[in-house]
Amino acid sequence: MQLLHNFFSFLKKEFHNCNNYCKKVSSQKTSQKYNAQRVKGLYDPLSKEFFKLSRSKLESFLRCARCFYLDRRLGVGHPPGYPFSLNIAVDTLLKKEFDKCRAEQMPHLFCIENGLDVIPFKDDLIDSWRDSLHGGIQYEVPNTNLMLYGGVDDIWVDSKTNELIIVDYKETSKIGAISLDSLNDEQRASYKRQVEIYQWLLRKNGFSVSNTAFFVYCNALTCLDSFNKYLKFDISLLAENGDDSWVESAIMNAYYCLQSIEIPQSAEKCSYCQYWNAVTKHINNK
Ligand code: SF4
Repeated sequence: MQLLHNFFSFLKKEFHNCNNYCKKVSSQKTSQKYNAQRVKGLYDPLSKEFFKLSRSKLESFLRCARCFYLDRRLGVGHPPGYPFSLNIAVDTLLKKEFDKCRAEQMPHLFCIENGLDVIPFKDDLIDSWRDSLHGGIQYEVPNTNLMLYGGVDDIWVDSKTNELIIVDYKETSKIGAISLDSLNDEQRASYKRQVEIYQWLLRKNGFSVSNTAFFVYCNALTCLDSFNKYLKFDISLLAENGDDSWVESAIMNAYYCLQSIEIPQSAEKCSYCQYWNAVTKHINNK
């Protein structure tokens, strides 16, 4: 009987993982059907309902208030890029791997090798926290009608302090060792903000959270002789020291931006705007 129960639990878990992978890929595929002027799901300053603001949209506000406003308030967003199917595949497999350790409440070999005393966090909420499309970690921000949410890749527990640790999987393919210092300033700052927002969200949900977050950084090696239907990765565990003290004021600024009737100024450096200004110049000269 127990064997049958375990078998069905296994099937359920596998189905859940595959389903999540398909949902992620298909959501990226369907986002290819670009709608240049959306009319649904826009922020309404007069609404009493909470408006769901994702972590990535808060990041977009920090990069450029104008594009954020055009997108969330006026329904005109950037055209989407191509789906990162290979990255999603690596994420999915890593999740399966860490889920096995979560089920047994055992440390992953990779963490032991890196001298970390951590185990994957086991909780009924974990699947919903990892599903940014249908849940994520959520918090209704007081004095606003915004609900901030974000989907984490994983959460570990520090076995000594019992604090939760934010974990994010990253994929790349670069020659040489991977370190946070090897990222360009903008990318590093963006990754740091990403984990700091998750830390803030978990704290607002009443959890004790470590300031240290980890990136499980997978680097696809191109130094091999052939492909042979197989990608080999080096994996590095990179620690980032977070400070979420800026998050609350950033959300309030995004809120004031959405409440405004003025379209904000654009960011100073942005290749999209440079492109658009160049196009406009040519069109106006005709
Ligand atoms: S600078 Fe222009 S194109 Fe770039 S993000 Fe802002 S409004 Fe959008």
